[in-house]
Amino acid sequence: MNERIKKGKLFYSRRFYNNKFCNNKIRLNLYDDKFKEECGIFGIYSPHEKNQYEANDEIAVKKVGAITYYGLCALQHRGEESAGIVVSDGNDLVFHKGMGLVSDVFDKQILEKMVGFSAIGHVRYSTTGVSTINNAQPIVAESKVGKIAIAHNGNLINASILKELMEDSGVIFQTDSDSEVLLNLIAKNLSRGLEKAVLDAILAVKGSFAIVVLTKDKLIAARDPNGIRPLCLGKVRGSYVVASETCALDAIGGEFIRDILPSEIVIIDENGLKSISLYEKTNLMTCAFEYIYFARPDSFLDGISVYKTRIEAGKQLYRENKVDADIVVGIPDSGIAAAIGYSEESGIPNSIGFIKSKYVGRTFINPQQQIREEKVSVKLNPLKVNVENKRVLLIDDSIVRGTTSKRLVEMMRNSGAKEVHLAIASPVVKFPCYFGIDTPLRSELIGATKTISQIREEIGCDSLSYLSIDGLLKSLGKDKGFCLGCFEGIYPQSATYNDLVLFENIDS
Ligand code: SF4
Repeated sequence: MNERIKKGKLFYSRRFYNNKFCNNKIRLNLYDDKFKEECGIFGIYSPHEKNQYEANDEIAVKKVGAITYYGLCALQHRGEESAGIVVSDGNDLVFHKGMGLVSDVFDKQILEKMVGFSAIGHVRYSTTGVSTINNAQPIVAESKVGKIAIAHNGNLINASILKELMEDSGVIFQTDSDSEVLLNLIAKNLSRGLEKAVLDAILAVKGSFAIVVLTKDKLIAARDPNGIRPLCLGKVRGSYVVASETCALDAIGGEFIRDILPSEIVIIDENGLKSISLYEKTNLMTCAFEYIYFARPDSFLDGISVYKTRIEAGKQLYRENKVDADIVVGIPDSGIAAAIGYSEESGIPNSIGFIKSKYVGRTFINPQQQIREEKVSVKLNPLKVNVENKRVLLIDDSIVRGTTSKRLVEMMRNSGAKEVHLAIASPVVKFPCYFGIDTPLRSELIGATKTISQIREEIGCDSLSYLSIDGLLKSLGKDKGFCLGCFEGIYPQSATYNDLVLFENIDS
């Protein structure tokens, strides 16, 4: 399971993969200048509401849909393209999904129809499959023993091979999504029992996954053997809850119990909770980018506070790269905490340099470069009174293509800043990700093709510094237990031959 791709030898191409799954449609969201998280998942099983349901207490049983709705709202930052909820009433699964934000897809009337005692939900930013309602999750399938639904965060790196094999044996797929491969693997073996079917399916797939599966009487949650994508377990008023991040538990007034462990399968039904581990020994390698950028700062992932790691990253950045500046400015949102840390450690005042529009949501509407750059100005406006005649140090979480950073530096200069320095609270991103994060081609990653001094020149800042890999690990408080693939090119699992593109090998 822990094969590694040798640095600089084999590189997986996200666009190649997308094309295979998307019938050669290049998706618009490739053009945004940040790594993109794929999805957020949520599940709830309420034995209390099962009793209410059996007692015909309609008001009580309307709660699981509403709780799932609020859980998904708290996970909205993990995916803004589509949202969906499936509810079980013990006999059937009822579902609703649509394109847009959770609040666009659901209203009071829809939620009132979602009656039952267990539910799963999903918010999606697609990394495989085109962005259509057909690919929205949860995906629901018919099986010999009734309906089954899945919501998945992550990316299955051997999905294309498994899909081909299944199609050869007559399975018909409804979507382009790799998650449906997992669902079909489970559905195929359901007659041997749900536990066995999930176990066998998980043993067959490779890649990253945090999943919730719902049948009429069971909720199952599972995490891949490296725990690349986060998943935690909690409770709210006697109901078990699973969610991608702890902020979703907070949003529903729940309490955190523990993180789901790598390779763990949790089965929740009327008998309570049962846990199975696929392997005796596992190797936790949580995605480091969850802490740097994806997760909400108020979440804890695998016992580590996201906010604290960002503050620490800022402090560490100062220790490694001391910049002479009058003010430190965090780029909203994920640069803010690192700027606080830098300011605390350096004594340089932390100031607001940009005002973020609360009303500009999804940033992948237009793929054209010029329009993408204009959207930066719509989203962030410089606060001239704070930056005029000052030596400004901007702090950002990462640089992907460099287009946004260039525009932000220009905006600071146009607002009268005397000097504009840029410090990045993560190491240089040099490699793509194939674990559920939408990354550009390696040739489009500015850190893969240019030296730091060339990047500084291209962005137009007075100085440019990055956090070292060692500094990142110090900010995380541990020197192992994280995937650092996009910085080092060494991944927790190798891709299959079919999913690798050998010509994408850039000398670095
Ligand atoms: S390569 Fe690893 S660290 Fe980088 S985004 Fe992907 S999972 Fe996260």
